Amino acid sequence: MTEKNVNSVKSEKLTAVKGMNDVLPADSAAVEWLESRVRGLMARYAYRNIRTPIVERTPLFIRGLGEVTDIVEKEMYSFEDRLNGDSLTLRPEATAGVVRAVVEHSMLYDGGKRLYYIGPMFRHERPQRGRYRQFDQIGAEALGFTGPDVDAELILLAVALWQELGLTDVRLELNSLGQPQERLKHRQALIAHFEQYAEVLDEDAKRRLHSNPLRILDTKNPAMQAVVESAPRPLDYLGDASLAHFDGLKAILDANGVAYTVNPRLVRGMDYYNLTVFEFTTDRLGSQGTVCAGGRYDYLVEQLGGKPAPAVGWALGVDRVLELVKEQGLATLAPALDAYAIVPDASALPLVLKTLQTLRAAGVSVQMHASSGEGMGSMKSQFKRADSSGARFALIFGTDEVSKNQVTIKSLRDGSGGQASHSLANIAGWVSTLQSLT
Ligand code: ATP
Ligand code: MG
Repeated sequence: MTEKNVNSVKSEKLTAVKGMNDVLPADSAAVEWLESRVRGLMARYAYRNIRTPIVERTPLFIRGLGEVTDIVEKEMYSFEDRLNGDSLTLRPEATAGVVRAVVEHSMLYDGGKRLYYIGPMFRHERPQRGRYRQFDQIGAEALGFTGPDVDAELILLAVALWQELGLTDVRLELNSLGQPQERLKHRQALIAHFEQYAEVLDEDAKRRLHSNPLRILDTKNPAMQAVVESAPRPLDYLGDASLAHFDGLKAILDANGVAYTVNPRLVRGMDYYNLTVFEFTTDRLGSQGTVCAGGRYDYLVEQLGGKPAPAVGWALGVDRVLELVKEQGLATLAPALDAYAIVPDASALPLVLKTLQTLRAAGVSVQMHASSGEGMGSMKSQFKRADSSGARFALIFGTDEVSKNQVTIKSLRDGSGGQASHSLANIAGWVSTLQSLT
């Protein structure tokens, strides 16, 4: 460390890294709620959880996502392993890592696999609403399946998730990029088209014209909208098999009443996609309106050293989905607290903690009033705490109760203020009265 660094270590205010947010309990409850919905849903669709490392070797992403992509060009957190000089990267997305794991563990030897992941990703972007440098994604990947039925299954899975969360303002856009041969022809036509309008191309577009012209279609530069509008579309270059795949997908979506629009300009940020690409978008989140995106990536497994195998998947942004839940005024369930233990005299603490252990083992959630340097505090202040804790019941371990080996249970929420004493020798006989019905 340089001297300057050492000094700044001593004096610097210790705050979180820009774009990397603390998720405090109030917001974390919503994240956990979403995750538990997702886990239930994934189980019903027979997708199984996979957890890959947050750090991978840098070449995985360069080979996987493509050199001329926003992520690889400017968004990765890469660093040198200080022992052997390897270049490592905080994962900017999880598909490449999942494919690496699938190949490394020969997971496709006995047929296709349906997988999902939940976890943090890292991209060095300009932080703003819905765009952070550390953010959670939930993703589903189906590897080893060729047919459009699995593309459809994944889209239906996402639609089922919106339904389960209560989201209504989500639109589906679809496109097909075709197979490599078709993409190549389209690419040549695209380059020829953009060369005609070289004077309107911005710096990014000029740089990508010969390396990755498809990405130009994705531009957000208003000055280029006209040339992008008139550019050749991937859909016009699809052969019969690619068209049949696209039609197969649409037929299943139609049969399921899933609304979609075909957006011939839709391309995705990573190079690995072929055939189907799709996005779920909303108007409610400003410019960060894409909540979920994905598509087919039939060549990635081979590109990362595996035996050729088709694949398709999507990823959703947890922050954007939860922002939309909030925007629509939908409730997320916070964990409910059953009881708050009120302890007027510290001498009761051994008995109280023993009792609470039994209650918790029986499934009751209970918060204990903790002692401070001045003892337990007044009954009044303890009841205040009990109230603000949100607990439905107060458990009062008063001197009277304790001498009779009892506890008084007082209702805090139903307005009745009703209370009754129960014997500590017979917890099993009354424990269910404490448990929340939700
Ligand atoms: P965008 O066009 O918004 O940059 P992307 O094409 O880079 O998105 P993907 O890499 O496909 O996005 O990631 C899937 C989803 O993850 C996005 O649709 C979005 O909901 C979410 N996401 C992507 N980048 C971020 C970020 N920096 N912060 C929060 N969520 C993000
Ligand atoms: Mg991006």
